[in-house]
Amino acid sequence: MAESLLDYAPPEFARVLAGEPVPPAGGGEPVRAEIARTFTMANFIVAAVDSYSADWTDYTNASSAHYPATPSVSLEAADAHLPSYIRADLEADRMIPDERLAEAVRAALPSVGNVCARPSASVPEMGVWTCPECAHTIDPMELTIGEAVLIASYLGVGPDCGVRETDRDGLIELDRDNPWLFMRCIDCLAWSHLAEHLATQCVTFWFPSPVSAYQSGPGLWWDQERLLTRATWLPLRTEVDALERTAQYNFRMWKVKKMIDVADRGLHAARFQLTRWRRDAIAARETLVRTMFGAGRSIVDTGLALVHLVEQQETEPARQRLQEDRDTSRSLRRTWLRQKERWARMYLGN
Ligand SMILES: [Zn+2]
Ligand SMILES: [Zn+2]
Ligand SMILES: [Zn+2]
Repeated sequence: MAESLLDYAPPEFARVLAGEPVPPAGGGEPVRAEIARTFTMANFIVAAVDSYSADWTDYTNASSAHYPATPSVSLEAADAHLPSYIRADLEADRMIPDERLAEAVRAALPSVGNVCARPSASVPEMGVWTCPECAHTIDPMELTIGEAVLIASYLGVGPDCGVRETDRDGLIELDRDNPWLFMRCIDCLAWSHLAEHLATQCVTFWFPSPVSAYQSGPGLWWDQERLLTRATWLPLRTEVDALERTAQYNFRMWKVKKMIDVADRGLHAARFQLTRWRRDAIAARETLVRTMFGAGRSIVDTGLALVHLVEQQETEPARQRLQEDRDTSRSLRRTWLRQKERWARMYLGN
């Protein structure tokens, strides 16, 4: 800006800037105090309208007045932060995440191909579900008391409770009015039976409630209480602990990454807005200087008016708010970097 400033500044401006004594407008010898004052003001004017100063480290070099659309930060998938053993049931090709767990499932249910597949899919219409493992049957037309109680524990009692009393000696059967609910009730009864098999191998099996359409598939994990009670399972228990520690660590690192991304985006936005604010501020300063010099005002008068304008600009609430935003994002970033170090030390066992 210094070049164009010299275009509209008084002719002696360049000499004043260089510190050369310039005779007063009224004639006579230059006064020493006056030289210093004019020199200071000239330099202040140059600095205040300087767009390129290296002192302004807090700004981006963006030249557009519009904040660019930030591409959304990729987090691989919506569930990327979930521990792998929970996420795994969403992956069709690999239903059971841990090889040891898969072994335990095979040991408990060697005849069941995929314990997470819906059992109702293999039941013929009006048919009976048979456990491939022990040939235990579940007959939708003739529920046992235990089966009726299990369904009631999810659906309660009343018109939409999934079961009804037949006119055959008061037997309880699954209600077929809602075929989707009927299928989910079969799943529930069959999965609950398979869960009993899995429990013998210290595996906990959970499955979605039959109450509404499934939001997720079934899941498996070690029954840690049970693992603890058996000495022969101890090495496995230790392995499971290590696996969980790693899953927790990965989850924490995911969280750190996400929070630092949030802070970075906040910081970037605040800096962008500050840059725009500064561009407007400098334009206003240039206009003032140009107008005053154009009206024949002295370097000192113009400098004093500029000091006043700069002071006003520095205390604008909009600017202070932007600086607060920037500081908040900065401290958020620092906090999560510290948290990351702390978690890393914990994971490494210090
Ligand atoms: Zn989530
Ligand atoms: Zn069975
Ligand atoms: Zn950026």
